[in-house]
Amino acid sequence: MTSQSRKTEVKRRGFEELQSHVLLKDLCTSCGACVIMCPFKEVLDYALNGPSLVGECTKCGICLRVCPRYELDVGDLEQMVFGRERRPEEVFGLSKTVCVARSTRKDILGTCQDGGVATTLLSSAFTSGAIDGAALSGIDPSTPWLPKPLLATSLDEFVECAGTRYSYSPNLLAYNTGVAEGLGKIAFVGTPCQILALRRIQRASLRKHSRALALTIGLFCSECFSYEGLMIQKIQGEMGMDLRAITKMNIKGGVILQTKTGQTVKIPLRDAKRYTETKCQYCSDFSAELADISLGGIGLEGWTLTIIRTDKGKDLFSQAVNKGLLEVKPVEDFKSAFNLLQKLSKTKRTRAEKKRLES
Ligand SMILES: Cc1cc2nc3c(=O)[nH]c(=O)nc-3n(C[C@H](O)[C@H](O)[C@H](O)COP(=O)(O)OP(=O)(O)OC[C@H]3O[C@@H](n4cnc5c(N)ncnc54)[C@H](O)[C@@H]3O)c2cc1C
Repeated sequence: MTSQSRKTEVKRRGFEELQSHVLLKDLCTSCGACVIMCPFKEVLDYALNGPSLVGECTKCGICLRVCPRYELDVGDLEQMVFGRERRPEEVFGLSKTVCVARSTRKDILGTCQDGGVATTLLSSAFTSGAIDGAALSGIDPSTPWLPKPLLATSLDEFVECAGTRYSYSPNLLAYNTGVAEGLGKIAFVGTPCQILALRRIQRASLRKHSRALALTIGLFCSECFSYEGLMIQKIQGEMGMDLRAITKMNIKGGVILQTKTGQTVKIPLRDAKRYTETKCQYCSDFSAELADISLGGIGLEGWTLTIIRTDKGKDLFSQAVNKGLLEVKPVEDFKSAFNLLQKLSKTKRTRAEKKRLES
């Protein structure tokens, strides 16, 4: 089917189709792409876990064309982003360079998750005028560890948003705020499913939103954990910990919690896995394979494994290195992390395929 005939075909379908093929099958990633791209006011609303129909759908089909779980054609998106599809041996997607990096800025190293590369790249791009702001995951002081999408437009806000919250944060909602506020160059940081949604928005030539996209930074992701399950039931309820006392959370062979009093508490991964979001099991993308730059901690301590995939990513990364903001090491010095990247990429793809066949 040509892209024009597919577009016309999809046009006759609407939210009902999304409901039956994605939402009711528990496939919805909760990214919010359908909600932000619906051209009609008050038809779709973002509820806690994804979209809900609150008005009358005109069946324009846009929600289907931007959904990362509906008739996704990754090869077609790779053609758009990289000019070619991956070869089978490119198990973590297409890339230009892979290296290991960390920030040289003390303030960032004090709050970041791994090597602070995400926050450093944003700060560097902002200072040089390459971006006007970034769609990130912020923190809601009234509900500790519940991520909250935030449009950050200052260096301080980038640093405040550093670190990882392991529950789902629909950062596309913050991106939409940036577009609505008329920002011309917005960076986006998010999970693989969110990067896929943004690439679908670009592929659908939805100009207002695709024009503003200045940079995509993808985060490696095995899965997200339910906030209610992991944070409230397990950590607060069962383990009796005060969520406000947790200063850092990381996943390295288990869920590792650090507290204000200097305590380290470890939850075995198999216990935490009970609270994995079901929708994540259908995801085949571990390393945000369509981002300009992809980042993960992947067993490293204080460093970020960095995959530079596009020319745009390469330019921004080089600028940050040339300004002395990033320290870089060859990935060959971190063989086990590189092997783990390949292994987790394959495992996630196999898990998704198995789940898809079961459903
Ligand atoms: C849900 C989730 C699961 C992850 N799973 C893995 C994994 O299995 N293996 C692995 O190697 N790495 C994983 N990561 C990535 C890792 O935790 C770091 O984000 C990455 O290494 C970058 O570190 P940094 O120090 O360079 O980033 P920092 O400079 O600390 O910046 C981190 C950025 O992430 C954003 N962010 C924080 N929480 C969220 C969220 N919930 N959703 C979207 N954006 C968010 C922040 O806004 C910030 O801009 C995961 C990240 C998330 C959000």
